Amino acid sequence: MEIAKNGTPEIRKVIVIGSGPAGLTAALYSARANLKPLVFEGSQPGGQLMITTEVENYPGFEHGIMGPELMDIMRKQAVRFGAESVFRNIVKADLSNRPFKITDEEGKEYFAETLIVSTGASAKWIGIDSEKKFMGYGVSSCATCDGFFFRGMKVVVIGGGDTAMEEANYLTRHASEVILIHRRNEFRASKIMQDRSKSNPKIRFVLDSVVEEILGKEEENKKYVTGVKVKNVKTNEISEIDCSGVFVAIGHKPNSDIFKGSLEMDENGYLITKKSSSETNIEGVFACGDVQDHYYRQAITAAGTGCMSAIDAERYLELKEYELSKA
Ligand code: NAP
Repeated sequence: MEIAKNGTPEIRKVIVIGSGPAGLTAALYSARANLKPLVFEGSQPGGQLMITTEVENYPGFEHGIMGPELMDIMRKQAVRFGAESVFRNIVKADLSNRPFKITDEEGKEYFAETLIVSTGASAKWIGIDSEKKFMGYGVSSCATCDGFFFRGMKVVVIGGGDTAMEEANYLTRHASEVILIHRRNEFRASKIMQDRSKSNPKIRFVLDSVVEEILGKEEENKKYVTGVKVKNVKTNEISEIDCSGVFVAIGHKPNSDIFKGSLEMDENGYLITKKSSSETNIEGVFACGDVQDHYYRQAITAAGTGCMSAIDAERYLELKEYELSKA
């Protein structure tokens, strides 16, 4: 338990859980509001941008910036105004009493008047070693982030849902050919998204097939993808497809497990916030970034909602203070 100087448990004004663009922007704004936020950086400090290479669509960086560098700058900017980082995971959140109580992986408890949940979402991966090896070097889970690097090249998309269709269509703007590999011969994607992909002459479908290995080369300090080894699950036939990029689009999972039963979420686990606000169903708990947004999922939109959460938390605290002073 955090203990204040007077020996009682320390109660923070703001605790931010998560350290992607949403969490660090929330930390920056609440630090500048003098709320001294404590930021739990979680299992992937910096969030999903830590596994991206160059980010070219974050405004303010004319020549692009590497994902990890961008996150490092965001962290330093928040720390400069008094945010405090803790490099641990929160494993439990008790929102039934005030102050809210959260517990880290070492069993240490923390108390807060407001919580900003920015735990993000994790892309699902197929789980093969070569996928890990080439992640950020030809293997990606975000066409909007990385599609541009494959201008005039052949790329593979894995998946059969709306995300796969959307990524495949988007990638045809850059790639010379997009090969969509799906493990069944029926798609989970909505009909309209399927039709759009099927009518796109740059997209070719390889069905009833799974990617067994991502092939590539490693030269000095350069790694790049050259193709995929594919197995047809009906015939067991193995073949190779040449490509320069592999986009894994088999869904995302919001990191909201610890809030099951306390915060309202949709059927896929995305936290539900009130319209034009970052408020959840519990007063004083705010949510921002990919844990509450499965639609835009961009660093800049996450940062925007992080800013909203910090402002919402600040106004909530001000209102509580005012109510107390009138009581
Ligand atoms: P999804 O609907 O769950 O589809 C995931 C796809 O990946 C499925 O085709 C699944 O195959 C395949 N898959 C899962 N695990 C796999 C594995 N280990 N290896 C190979 N393939 C695997 O996920 P999503 O496409 O990300 O969509 C999530 C939600 O967001 C959906 O509700 C979707 O409608 C929505 N969304 C909407 C839009 C839009 O409207 N513009 C865009 C994107 C997403 P099986 O089919 O065989 O299970």
